[in-house]
Amino acid sequence: MAYASLSADDVLDNLPDAILVLDGLGNIEFANHAFFRMLGYAEEDVLNRNILHFLADDAIFDSCMMDLKKQGYCLDQETLFLHKDGSIVTTIKSVRMIDTAEEHHILVNIRNISDIDTLNRELDLSKREALEQAGALAALVDSKEKELTHAKMQLDEVLSAINEIIWYIDDKTLTVHYVSNAVELVFGVDKLAFIQQPRLWQEMVYADDRQMMESFFQTLQPGSTQTVEFRIERPDGEIRWLNNRIIHHPSMELFIGVTFDITDSKNTQDMIEFLAYHDSLTKLPNRVYLKEEMERMLVRANTISHAMAVMFLDLDNFKYINDSMGHEIGDEILIEVASRLNDALEHKAVCTRFGGDEFIILLSDIQDMCDIEYAASRLNGCFEKPFLIRDHEYFISSSIGISLFPQHAATSTNLIKHADTAMYQAKKEGKNRYTFYDASMDAYVNEFLRIENLIREGIKYNYFSLYFQPLIEASSRKVKGFEALLRLEHPEAADLGPEKFIPVAEATGDIVHLSEFVFKETCRFSKQINTLSDTELFIAVNISARQFQDANFTQTFLACLNENELSSSAIRVELTESVIMDNLELATEQLNQLKNAGIQAALDDFGTGYSSFEYLAKLPISTIKIDKSFVIGLFENEQNRHIIEAMTTLAHAMSMKVTAEGVESSEHAEYLLKQGVDILQGFYISKALPPNAILQNIAAKRPFFELEEPAS
Ligand code: C2E
Ligand code: CA
Ligand code: CA
Repeated sequence: MAYASLSADDVLDNLPDAILVLDGLGNIEFANHAFFRMLGYAEEDVLNRNILHFLADDAIFDSCMMDLKKQGYCLDQETLFLHKDGSIVTTIKSVRMIDTAEEHHILVNIRNISDIDTLNRELDLSKREALEQAGALAALVDSKEKELTHAKMQLDEVLSAINEIIWYIDDKTLTVHYVSNAVELVFGVDKLAFIQQPRLWQEMVYADDRQMMESFFQTLQPGSTQTVEFRIERPDGEIRWLNNRIIHHPSMELFIGVTFDITDSKNTQDMIEFLAYHDSLTKLPNRVYLKEEMERMLVRANTISHAMAVMFLDLDNFKYINDSMGHEIGDEILIEVASRLNDALEHKAVCTRFGGDEFIILLSDIQDMCDIEYAASRLNGCFEKPFLIRDHEYFISSSIGISLFPQHAATSTNLIKHADTAMYQAKKEGKNRYTFYDASMDAYVNEFLRIENLIREGIKYNYFSLYFQPLIEASSRKVKGFEALLRLEHPEAADLGPEKFIPVAEATGDIVHLSEFVFKETCRFSKQINTLSDTELFIAVNISARQFQDANFTQTFLACLNENELSSSAIRVELTESVIMDNLELATEQLNQLKNAGIQAALDDFGTGYSSFEYLAKLPISTIKIDKSFVIGLFENEQNRHIIEAMTTLAHAMSMKVTAEGVESSEHAEYLLKQGVDILQGFYISKALPPNAILQNIAAKRPFFELEEPAS
């Protein structure tokens, strides 16, 4: 057995990696053949020279020395060496301090990772040298102990101090003949075990990689050096990735190798790959993945003529929560949303995060429409339960738009675009639902986008202003207050009224910003009019669903009143039934808080929605506002009159006041006054006016209207 008496020195010189021993100042005390080979120098050119002489970049030396001082080792820095011919050799290296009794030495393991040319050149050289060395080594076989000429330490010590595993195995049976101490750390098994059970290491190779590893050794040409990566499974079950650089030494009948544990960098690499295709917050596949997956699915769907559905899911009120509660809460909600969506889907569906609060779900191999409807309702259903984040409940819903392949589009871009369009439609139809794409929706979406843009510009250039429409008390025929109404005075859209832009602002979340503006202006204006006026005048503000879903709404509201030193009777709120019905429980609580603080609430647009007196009786509401459609159509339709009469009677029976809006003529006013309506509002009395017009009227004590005095 030729290798029985191999010295550590022989092994070192046959290693495919370059090994150096330096003194504390960087002078080279020892270098193996691989080092000479790598840089094209002869031994005498290298020994006793400083390492700086061979480095292409000196800075790496300093940073490496710093690491050594700090932690005793330095790993895997890309290091550029200078070849004798002037070319650059790229390497990775690991450096370690070895302390003997008196001195410090630095042990360096260098792996050449230069381009293929360099590898080939090295390969040729190593082939030649391996053959040369085979002869030389044979001569060493019988010598007992080799004198160590260059280093002040035993080379066996060197081998065991190297972080990488150095080993050689039989080139036929792959049984172990030598392995350095580092094996214990990496394999988690005592070094002796490998010697006693020479096949142990093979058994530890991860089952999936074993065949690949075996065929690697079978095909490794005599004299050549190659790298192979495989995994091992440690006794504790941990999987580790190994990078092995191996030379086949035919005359010694050995494979000699150096093994790096690259698990950490492999994990980083996996991580990088994962991140490229996944969203880091929710861990769902991302846009990049979506695109590629859709292309794959389309190819498949085309070949086997299967249908495919793209679902565009958007959270209905997320932006508002995110803006008002902070991004951390928003992030936690998104994570929970992602996990609920994933759980709701069957495994062949793909759920991806498209961006922000948008998710795209792909369904392939669809048999019939029920599959899609089932999936869509499961997805909507994910939002039935509130999201509990840090002891706080958040109510969120989702709108889903669905496009189909091949009916609606043939490309991924268009399928997504159409699903997006259908999603807008779902929002328009009242949120928390799903809608299939239809070509007629495109016009709607374009209009939506145009308005969204006008709103953004309006915010940016201060085109928004607040107008105030007088509210007349029937009994005294006097102005009692005003309703604050938002106006967008955009030069390119002079006639864009709030009934058009408010729903868009609600859908996009811009309403949050606009509401703040409305509230600030209202408070400011309330102060102005009440300073001028002898009697107290209230201002009614319209509250959007978004605002009311904020559990802190009342507190914020009251804090603002306080700040502006306004009494709670100065401001009233108007809410529509749908705002209340969106979340009846939360709304009831908010309304109770408002009532306790002395703030009156009116139910807007009454008669157009649920209009159930049953729930109305339970709500702390002081006024109902009969919708203008009933008033305007008062004399066209008898039914309208019956409705107004019934609503007024019932409201009064429940001790609520009644406001009628849409009073456009003296006939309207007369009729409503006869019915006992408490407050009148409408163009007949006054349109909404800019603040200045109102201030001038109040200052001049001019009435806003002409109404007959009440019969005394
Ligand atoms: P609304 O709360 O029902 O407001 C009353 C609407 O009726 C106003 O329309 C007002 O100008 C209009 N109106 C008043 N008298 C008459 C009349 O005699 N005849 C007719 N045909 N219309 C009359 P406007 O200002 O266009 O507002 C439309 C809707 O936009 C409002 O309906 C309200 O829902 C929303 N809105 C307006 N300002 C705000 C706001 O600051 N915040 C929120 N959240 N919504 C607002
Ligand atoms: Ca209103
Ligand atoms: Ca109304």
